[in-house]
Amino acid sequence: MTNHKSHSCGCCMSDLNENDNQKNLYELLFAIGIYTSAFFIQDVRIKLIIFITAYIIAGVDVIYASLKNIKNGIIFDENFLMTIATLGAMCVGEYPEAVMVMILYKIGESLQTDAVNKSKRSISSLMDIRPDYAYIETEDGLKKVHPPDVKLGDIIVVKPGEKISLDGVVTEGESSVDTSAITGESVHKTVRAGDIVYSGCICTSGLLKIRTTKVFSESTVSKILELVENAKDKKSKSENYITKFAKVYTPIVVLGAVLLTLIPTFFFDGSFVVWFKRALTFLVISCPCAFVISVPLTFFAGIGACSKQGILIKGSNYMEKLATPDTILFDKTGTLTKGVFEIQKVCPINVSEEELLEYVVYAEYYSNHPIAVSVKKSYTHEIDKNKISSIEEFSGKGVKAVINNTEIIAGNYKLFCDFKIEIPDINEAGTIIYVAKDKQYAGYILITDEIKSETKNIISVLKSMKIKTTMLTGDTEKIARNTGEIIGIDEIKSHLLPQDKVEILEYKLLQKQANKSVLFVGDGINDAPVLKQADVGISMGALGSDAAIEASDVVIMNDEIEKIPVLINIARKTMRIVKENIIFAITVKVIFLILGALGYMSMWGAVFADVGVTCIAVINSLRTLQTTSFIKE
Ligand code: ADP
Ligand code: MG
Repeated sequence: MTNHKSHSCGCCMSDLNENDNQKNLYELLFAIGIYTSAFFIQDVRIKLIIFITAYIIAGVDVIYASLKNIKNGIIFDENFLMTIATLGAMCVGEYPEAVMVMILYKIGESLQTDAVNKSKRSISSLMDIRPDYAYIETEDGLKKVHPPDVKLGDIIVVKPGEKISLDGVVTEGESSVDTSAITGESVHKTVRAGDIVYSGCICTSGLLKIRTTKVFSESTVSKILELVENAKDKKSKSENYITKFAKVYTPIVVLGAVLLTLIPTFFFDGSFVVWFKRALTFLVISCPCAFVISVPLTFFAGIGACSKQGILIKGSNYMEKLATPDTILFDKTGTLTKGVFEIQKVCPINVSEEELLEYVVYAEYYSNHPIAVSVKKSYTHEIDKNKISSIEEFSGKGVKAVINNTEIIAGNYKLFCDFKIEIPDINEAGTIIYVAKDKQYAGYILITDEIKSETKNIISVLKSMKIKTTMLTGDTEKIARNTGEIIGIDEIKSHLLPQDKVEILEYKLLQKQANKSVLFVGDGINDAPVLKQADVGISMGALGSDAAIEASDVVIMNDEIEKIPVLINIARKTMRIVKENIIFAITVKVIFLILGALGYMSMWGAVFADVGVTCIAVINSLRTLQTTSFIKE
């Protein structure tokens, strides 16, 4: 994450690395030395030679870059502006000024490069969760290796204070692990033999021996890093706009400079030299550096701020949409509710309670729906996988499986309608899993889910932010209404199959106000179509779920709904700072351009103005990082 490719338009030198910058500094000092010596020399010709030498030393890179860009079809860039401005100054005999402008410009660029590099580094370090090494257990004791060299099934040893470098299962030891690097929340969880651990977490108390279940490139850390790295390539509209803007802006400025020389000279009897010099100053002021550097940096800082909170954004294009939500659609199970179901009642018909429960647990064995996960968790007996064959899952309905040659169907009434199995109407407060054995109704299991403690509060926070909220669920109307009323959500849609959710989303997309967006928040389980189609698809509780990370645009690593307003606030702040920088830079430039055109501005002043504006914009960009509270920023 250290090689940030710089903006594409070829302006500015902020893609210089430290070595280049060092070399630059020496050249600069040399040029300044020679330049100063000229003032102690009387002979005009020698003076001239000295100035030209200093100019070449200071400006060769700029001139070279300008020529190189012209060859690549980028004519009007900053290097070009500086080159013609200083060469122009030489032509009218302003040698000391031309050299000084070039020197100041280079100093400014090097300050900018430094500021940008430092900022990028500090943002990157926020996101840097890459483990540097791993200890593997070998016959001759522990061996320190690079994480990519660890093989599947190797035993890695993690000492207190160290980062877990690959995903795996604990085989020995007990320790508290801190997940803050990946979830943004400093939650300490105790793990012991048999528990799954994720790379990126820090082992805080005891020593752990872990059998790796994934190679490094497949481990959670790598997945997250890959995602963050790719985020930079997905440019936002504003970034693309700035690139385009710089393309038309510079030629217009050059044309303006030409007119500024020609019109007064030919039509108003002005002095050519005076107006030509003003035009050159005009060119120097107009460098578009401030936007070109600060806008992408602000987005990058916004992504960094989110990442610190355990929120991963797959591109800065989503940042714009996250800042202006019209409606947020929430999946119910696992998003608004905990998704942890408690079995309330087991009501069998013609079979025993144990048998009915066993049927369901076996049928759900391969499903990762929250219902399936909860039911399996509550089951204490050993499960013999070999008994299970031909499993089928019906999204938003339930499952069918053959267990020891008996066909079991477990799911909601819709599934039973599909199979034309008659079921009684049951009036209970909770979700009902109907069960059929060989197409014969065999009873039901009543399960209930709990609303997350923060849900109600967050829905009202979102309302105060003027965002509409809608709950989508495949559950029955009764449960949906019950939940919806408790949390105070604006709109409730129940009885939905995954494709119905897509339909509602499409309708919302049509209905939304112009320039606003529709977000969908789900747990990533059977939500993939909606996640993909929403303006921004946000998945929660994605730790360890590759499918959810894959399908969504934004990933909230833990399953805290509190992160939604945080996310929107960071996005709003990012967009506000982008706008601030653009408006600030344009205002200052316009004022200085007018001053330059009227002759109130020297070329040196112009360089200061350009560098100053850029540095202020860069510093302002970094404010994006300081978002802490979600109610107000
Ligand atoms: P939600 O929209 O609330 O996330 P889903 O679309 O995931 O709900 O599921 C809708 C309904 O389908 C559930 O309430 C449940 O009745 C039924 N269902 C889905 N998957 C399963 C399963 N694996 N086992 C039993 N019932 C299921
Ligand atoms: Mg769901």
